[in-house]
Amino acid sequence: MNIKLVNSKVNAILKSLSDISLPINIEEIAKMRGLKVIPYPLGDDVSGLLAIQDGIGTIGYNKNEPKVRRRFTIAHELGHYELHKEKSDLFVDKQFIYRSQNSGNTAVNQAMEQEANYFASAILMPADQVRKAIEKANMDLGSEEAIKELAKIFEVSTTAMSIRISSLGMF
Ligand SMILES: [Zn+2]
Repeated sequence: MNIKLVNSKVNAILKSLSDISLPINIEEIAKMRGLKVIPYPLGDDVSGLLAIQDGIGTIGYNKNEPKVRRRFTIAHELGHYELHKEKSDLFVDKQFIYRSQNSGNTAVNQAMEQEANYFASAILMPADQVRKAIEKANMDLGSEEAIKELAKIFEVSTTAMSIRISSLGMF
């Protein structure tokens, strides 16, 4: 996975926002990037999809999933759009989040899934904002409560928050 590329895409998008307030309004950002975002009657095992037709991308998300999950799904599909739209015009994501066995098992697909997950985590939990939130609350990241608190601020799952914090080398 090309973390540098993913980070530079995410940073460019964050920079283009007039202000970064939390939680990140991911649906608004996807729309700003020219995507349609719609709730979809997806099967229970499908979290979301990205379909590109005539150059226009549509993100469908499973409206039956909890909000933190839907937000992650939209961010993940936006990641596919920003990073992989030349490679395919349809991405269907089963309950993928943090599971690597997905979308077929080819190495290329797995790398794309990892990149989309990393993209989602970086855009929903921007590094600077995470650091500031931790400083502001003077948190001890060893405590479960602190992770829960942070997850609430960023409107992500506690799992997503733990992964982000460890990938930022903060814990
Ligand atoms: Zn995916």
